[in-house]
Amino acid sequence: MTRTEPQADYAAPPATGMTPMMAQFFEIKGVNPGYLLFYRMGDFYELFFDDAEIASAALGITLTKRGKHLGEDIPMCGVPIHAAQDYLKKLISLGHKVAVCEQVEDPAEAKKRGSKSVVKRDVVRLVTPGTLTEDDLLPARGNNFLLSLARLGSDGEGYAMAWSDISTGELLVADLDKESLADEIARIDPAELILSDRLADQLAEQRALSSDRLAGATRRPHESFESEAASRLLRETFDNGVDPTAFSRTARAALGALITYVAETQKGAGIPLRQPRLEAPTDHMQIDAATRSSLELLVTQRGDVRGALRASVDMTVTGAGARLFAARLAAPLNDPARINARLDAIDTLIESSMETDAIRKGLRAAPDIARALTRLTLERGGPRDLGAIGRGITQARALGHLLSGLSDPGDELAAIARTLGRAPEILADEFAKALVDEPPLFARDGGFVASGYDGELDTQRRLGSESRKVVAELQAALVEKTGVRALKIKHNNVLGFFVEVPASHGSRLLEDSVFIHRQTLANAMRFTTTDLAELEGKIARAQEIAVEIELSIFARLREAALAQSRDLMAAADAMAELDVAAALANLAAQRNWCRPLVDQSLAFQIEGGRHPVVEKTLEAEGQTFVANDADLSAPEPDEGGQLWLVTGPNMGGKSTFLRQNALIAILAQMGSYVPATSAHIGVVDRVFSRVGASDDIAQGRSTFMVEMVETAAILNRATRRSLVILDEIGRGTATFDGLSIAWACVETLHETTGCRAIFATHYHELTALSATLSRVSNHTMSVKEYKGDVVFLHEVTQGAADRSYGIQVAKLAGLPAPVITRARQVLDLLEARGQSNPGSALADLPLFAHMPAPEDKTVPQPGANPVTDMIETVRPDDLSPRAALEWIYELKKAAYADGDH
Ligand code: ATP
Repeated sequence: MTRTEPQADYAAPPATGMTPMMAQFFEIKGVNPGYLLFYRMGDFYELFFDDAEIASAALGITLTKRGKHLGEDIPMCGVPIHAAQDYLKKLISLGHKVAVCEQVEDPAEAKKRGSKSVVKRDVVRLVTPGTLTEDDLLPARGNNFLLSLARLGSDGEGYAMAWSDISTGELLVADLDKESLADEIARIDPAELILSDRLADQLAEQRALSSDRLAGATRRPHESFESEAASRLLRETFDNGVDPTAFSRTARAALGALITYVAETQKGAGIPLRQPRLEAPTDHMQIDAATRSSLELLVTQRGDVRGALRASVDMTVTGAGARLFAARLAAPLNDPARINARLDAIDTLIESSMETDAIRKGLRAAPDIARALTRLTLERGGPRDLGAIGRGITQARALGHLLSGLSDPGDELAAIARTLGRAPEILADEFAKALVDEPPLFARDGGFVASGYDGELDTQRRLGSESRKVVAELQAALVEKTGVRALKIKHNNVLGFFVEVPASHGSRLLEDSVFIHRQTLANAMRFTTTDLAELEGKIARAQEIAVEIELSIFARLREAALAQSRDLMAAADAMAELDVAAALANLAAQRNWCRPLVDQSLAFQIEGGRHPVVEKTLEAEGQTFVANDADLSAPEPDEGGQLWLVTGPNMGGKSTFLRQNALIAILAQMGSYVPATSAHIGVVDRVFSRVGASDDIAQGRSTFMVEMVETAAILNRATRRSLVILDEIGRGTATFDGLSIAWACVETLHETTGCRAIFATHYHELTALSATLSRVSNHTMSVKEYKGDVVFLHEVTQGAADRSYGIQVAKLAGLPAPVITRARQVLDLLEARGQSNPGSALADLPLFAHMPAPEDKTVPQPGANPVTDMIETVRPDDLSPRAALEWIYELKKAAYADGDH
């Protein structure tokens, strides 16, 4: 076998003449294809062959060699055990998976079998990006999800995804349709995606998931998505058994595959999963992947945490709280009752600011119970995890007590207080008594049980560490018994412990049956006693026994913690909820936010709205953010929402204004106060935001194509209850094409969709639509001109802009003076000829009258509609400005002739 052969070839039967160790290596490697094998040798994990080459390059460690295989050097590199965690972290972050192979017997045992025997080794753990549990490997404030995606049978069955953060045991499942597949996966943003080979191929072919996502996915055999086996697993895996019929067949398959994978990677340790929770698609506001990215909810479009909404508004103080905060921000609620319950909790906490401060202080000291408990379940936990649980319980109870003291603890807070009150106090007391103040990470070396907790342990420790004192005590007792003051207890390698007296006193001891004579020297005699022999044995084994006792105490305490896992997890969840509520209360008070009124209406009325991130940035620079109102409410309950057309100069604040309104809706529905002086929001079922231009070259889509794909998604999927934010639609193509598309989009949103919408554009021609479409109104970002320059006021006012001040902004941006001068000349010329506003003739003509309703998906036949035909056949790039104008007149004629306007 050569080094360059693919990994699967490791499974080939070992060649003859191989050392027993290499044979063992190949055998283990063969059953773990696709994993880098960390092969334990003494104090190192060694990697061989391709693994060594991959790891040495990835980790920057030296590649050496060890012996030969089939005449070639065996490449090798190694990582020391004590630093293995860091190396693992790096490999996992680079997308590798690692099989950790340990020695599973004492090397002495192997020696007994013969000099050529190798120590038995086995893989004890498969480390993959989605199955991490160690604090060092996990983001403290982020979830680490494993997501399994399933699709059964032929069409009609739909898809399902099950996802879990095994470090906290959370397990959720949802049925999906194909349309929302990519969006929902983007919402969960899993560290690892598992799916069947077949499904991976299908999705790749249909381009239903991005190639990045699919390339990094873990492909599993089709059989592991079998729904019958999954039903059995569901009944057997969870404490009280889970009724499989509560889930669709596909959902069961997704759950089954996930559970199997977790079990496989954890190699027989307990499965740390909680009962699966079914999430209905209507539970939360739908936010598609493009909107999520454009609104920069959790990360910016560049992928940075800084600058995103979350970083600016998340004031939680615990890891679990931060994880819950992110999950809520990613999936705002749809049910006003649940939203208002969350808002009530914030109200109470704002009113009781002293208690809230105390609560936040208490939470800061609260350890991550869920992750500690998971590690204990997986037999990967240590004394520090027990300590964390003990302290966590104490904190939980104290917080519950604080909460119940609030004047009006409302429903949500009262429920949290009750749950916290159920945190098992006995366990905390026991752990406090049992553990030293700062226990070590691992149980294996002992030293974590407090003295005074276990009598036998104390004795053993005393024997071990205080053996001198015990010997001195025995010596004193023997001196007293014999009256020989010169009697000494000594030690050497031959006799071990012995009693020595000067030869002159030897006869006295020889007469006493307690003393057994061992040696006579020139001037001394040596004896032993049964007590001394026993003491000797005890001292030798004391250390060992002490560790054994500690380990059995650890096992007992671990069992005690696991027995209470339900209450412990509930307390951990309740603390996270409390953390989020207190953080939002703090945020609202600190940043002067208001409680939104959220109901089932179609209102969207914001007064004094601000963009939370831009405002904070400006504040840091000593500037003030200009607050703006927005009212998109449906004028009558049975009418659609309003559509605001926002025109105005470049840099005027249009994008900021658009986004702030979408963010206010999201914040309100996650159950937060909002950056405004007042806000009334009828629940938004979907938010769509298409802001700015971006391309997706990796997926073979140009800037304009991406823009159109996203716009199509909006027009096809938005409902009357949706909020649509569109910025500069149609900018990526020729002016007329762009203007026509933008025009048609406004008409469709108004006439067919009827959603609440804000549409920002530099096509000032569009503002003419307000004359014909009753719920369209024009708004503009006001500016002042001062000595030829433009001053942005960032104020949204009624009316339409007549120009974009593009040249002034270009000047501000530092375009060379000659270019600016020339641009002015060109603009003057164009304006003089009326070409700068070629659509002025369009103002009173609806380009394409109302678009067909989205459900009408029939493909128009050629010749059926002359307007469509004209649009389909026109090649804008081939038209001169004059020909374009003529074409528009033709189009107008055709439209009127068709009677369709
Ligand atoms: P363009 O048409 O060039 O895309 P725009 O009109 O969308 O520009 P924005 O990107 O929203 O403009 O805003 C430009 C800058 O103006 C922001 O980065 C911010 O610093 C500032 N700004 C925007 N809105 C406000 C506001 N309401 N108050 C104060 N400053 C603001």
